[in-house]
Amino acid sequence: MQTGKRLRAYPTPAQEQILLQWIGHQRFIYNAKVSEDRYYWAFAKKAVSLSGTPVPVDQEYARFIGPETSWLREVPSQILRNGAVRWKQAMGRFFSGLARKPVFQRKDGRQSVWITSELFRFRTNDETQFEELILGTKKFPVGVLPFKAHTPYSRPASLHVSVEAGKWFVSFSSDDGLPEPKEEDTISWLRMFSEEELEGKTLGFDRGVTIPVMASDGRRIDFSSVQKIRMEKKERAKKRWQRKLSRQVKGSNNRKESKTRLSRTFEYAKNVRKDVIHKATHDLVSDPDRTLFVVEDLKVKNMTKRPEPKQEDSGGYAKNGARAKAGLNWAILSSCWGLFVVLLSYKARRSGKLVIKVSPQFSSQECARCGHIHPDNRPSQAGFVCQRCGLADNADLNASRVIAKRGIRLLLEGKVPQKTIRRCGIGKLKTLGPERSEVKASGEDDKTRRTKRLRASSAKEELPLARSETPPTAQSA
Ligand SMILES: [Zn+2]
Repeated sequence: MQTGKRLRAYPTPAQEQILLQWIGHQRFIYNAKVSEDRYYWAFAKKAVSLSGTPVPVDQEYARFIGPETSWLREVPSQILRNGAVRWKQAMGRFFSGLARKPVFQRKDGRQSVWITSELFRFRTNDETQFEELILGTKKFPVGVLPFKAHTPYSRPASLHVSVEAGKWFVSFSSDDGLPEPKEEDTISWLRMFSEEELEGKTLGFDRGVTIPVMASDGRRIDFSSVQKIRMEKKERAKKRWQRKLSRQVKGSNNRKESKTRLSRTFEYAKNVRKDVIHKATHDLVSDPDRTLFVVEDLKVKNMTKRPEPKQEDSGGYAKNGARAKAGLNWAILSSCWGLFVVLLSYKARRSGKLVIKVSPQFSSQECARCGHIHPDNRPSQAGFVCQRCGLADNADLNASRVIAKRGIRLLLEGKVPQKTIRRCGIGKLKTLGPERSEVKASGEDDKTRRTKRLRASSAKEELPLARSETPPTAQSA
């Protein structure tokens, strides 16, 4: 079973310099491909459609290395090629409708470089018996990159090295060799039970206002009061640095410093959220009695609607910070919910358990005992009193039980939506000669090179073979 691993890395300052260079060069090629593609679509599309040659989607990059960009040769060519491949893969996802068209990679925020097997190897240190990661080639050595393997992993075929807010990471996909439990098997196994038996095996979850996540057995997933205070403190610091940043001169060193400080203010809340949700979902999935988890199917539209202002502090729109506070709460809660579902899903799948999504409609107004739906069932934000059968309960708890019931019903009716995994045709990587683009004769001008390339792209299938290959000519004359 494939799982993603993200391990903290600790490069030396010299290594940091090299890795930052790799990141920058790869981004340059990626962005060059994006801007070239935009040019084709904006200006050349008509001409291209008349001449019958398609807009090229390839992974050539040699034409971006010229007299003015000779610094591109300061990194291994595989770094540049991988930039072009990354762009081509993004185009592949775009063509299969999985993603939008690739856009320019930004210079700020999380930065990463994709490194393929030519540029790294793992080695077991004879003395310490720990694994070492060696980066670079003979010509471009980086040396041993120290990293912390906090979890077992298998050696990957390619990896990403990334930096975010000054922290470095190595991430890759790892195979543990175990077969992945199939969802259909879990579903058919669960359907052998009666509704009452299933109730004991099921947990429903409600996204609350006061408590981020409430389970139907009364379990709460919440931040500690210390964490909440610190998160709000960081939030204020974030505002302060953003204000400061807005007044500083673009490109100045002070602004650079502020940017680093600003990026650090995001860290704490992010780490706390991840930590709390990881621990909670681990506990839930490790519980041997629970096999079915039911969550609300929240749509993006629900998630991005305007937050409701808090009214108890002041009527109207007085500047009391209530709206900002509501916005903050909402942001924390909503992102927390998304993370919760994602983490719960993959952990459940890994241990042969099931997560199903149900419609969230009126789940807060429905009675978990008799099914009566009415707005009057909610006399207050926190309380639930059924107007028909008189059931009185905590509103979030009631809602989570309603959600659990809906999940069981969906399962017994056999209407559990099966997730279809859509993939796109990314591949052929192994047959690619890495230095194919360096074969080109240097005497060509841009125009002949482009025509050659256009012709070549129409005979795409035969292209990616060996480095000695020349583009086929005399075809689309
Ligand atoms: Zn009722």
